[in-house]
Amino acid sequence: MKKDITGMMVYYYVVCKRKLWYFYHEIQMEQSNENVAIGKVIDEETYRRDDKHINIDNVINIDFIRSKGILHEVKKSNKIEEASILQVKYYLYYLKERDVLVKAKIDYPLLKECVDVELSEEDERHIRLVLQEIEQIVNESVPPVMKKQRICRSCAYHDLCYI
Ligand code: SF4
Repeated sequence: MKKDITGMMVYYYVVCKRKLWYFYHEIQMEQSNENVAIGKVIDEETYRRDDKHINIDNVINIDFIRSKGILHEVKKSNKIEEASILQVKYYLYYLKERDVLVKAKIDYPLLKECVDVELSEEDERHIRLVLQEIEQIVNESVPPVMKKQRICRSCAYHDLCYI
């Protein structure tokens, strides 16, 4: 059954296309991963005042919206910032397609930093291409060939790829 493309899928598209395939096909091993556990602690301990996890169509899962229409995505580190930015731009794109115009920030509570994210027309063209490519990847019957990279060490699918 065809699924909607979620923000997390867009994030994984940048991080690792093999990871994207595993995730799409519901091979989920994230629960046992230490990094995910850290992320959950940050999530529970940070920004208690705000409405959290606003889910729209099960496609986008915004961490919270603060006043003046600014949505916030919380990340524990900025190591894969390119992926986080594309994920958040996809949120902006998805909402804009539904006539909801908002701004966004990525918050790094552990670093005490935040980054503003905006959506340009070029971003919109890029996102349309990314969505097409994601469709192609996830519709393959096997995952993309593994490419060793630094993040493999902390990836939840490590044991699956390095058997
Ligand atoms: S272990 Fe590496 S290659 Fe395998 S899914 Fe994770 S990031 Fe991708």
